[in-house]
Amino acid sequence: MDGKRKADSRNKKKKKASEALDILAFGAHPDDVEITCGGTLIRCADQGYRVGVVDLTRGECGTRGTPEERLKEAENSRRVMGITVRENLGLTDCAVTNDEESRLKVIEVIRKYRAKTLIIPHWEQRHPDHAEAAQIIYRAAFLAGLKRFEAEGQPFRPEKILYAYNFRSFVPTIVVDITDQFERKLEAVRSYRSQFDPCASQDPPLRWVMDMDKMLDAKARHFGSLIARTYGEPFIVQQVIGIDDLVTMSFRTM
Ligand SMILES: [Zn+2]
Repeated sequence: MDGKRKADSRNKKKKKASEALDILAFGAHPDDVEITCGGTLIRCADQGYRVGVVDLTRGECGTRGTPEERLKEAENSRRVMGITVRENLGLTDCAVTNDEESRLKVIEVIRKYRAKTLIIPHWEQRHPDHAEAAQIIYRAAFLAGLKRFEAEGQPFRPEKILYAYNFRSFVPTIVVDITDQFERKLEAVRSYRSQFDPCASQDPPLRWVMDMDKMLDAKARHFGSLIARTYGEPFIVQQVIGIDDLVTMSFRTM
């Protein structure tokens, strides 16, 4: 290999390494991750981790706001959250389907960012796109690690999947303390002015949206109370979590 090719290969490797993230969160639509796990993403960024968000669609079927507005709002929110990258895969809103084309896009983004921890939507959801997204991403995360699976990028399989949820009350397996991040979570959600600005809509059925701050406050307080903190965000993992140190484990019985 001559000098120039060696340098090119070094630069390529450097670029690959610089793209690598610690945590990658997926949402079906712009604003999903802010609502379900925004505080956790901010906390991870505060801790110095490289955090990324991938939105599957541009939310073009939404009642309010244009796709262009929502992209701008998503970028504003990215800055508020202090996360490293945000990407939109451009799947079709309200028609998210667990097909080969969609899986391929997700596989390539998983291989590109090589995050060991993924946060993805829970599989039971009110909005069909959210439920379908869970299926696509789980399958893509598995396939991304197969050496012989043909897709862009080097094989890579994430180690952990955390499921985020916002629809019903449920018993989480993990709650992240977001007390210090809660105000910034609200600010990130408010970045979506087209969706949540009380002045932007007079539509009575959307009144709950206008009370988004209160709803998020109530939910985060509820889950925070489960771990004796002011605010928390809940997740489900499908595995049993092992503990290394019983004395220092973050847990209170009374
Ligand atoms: Zn959504």
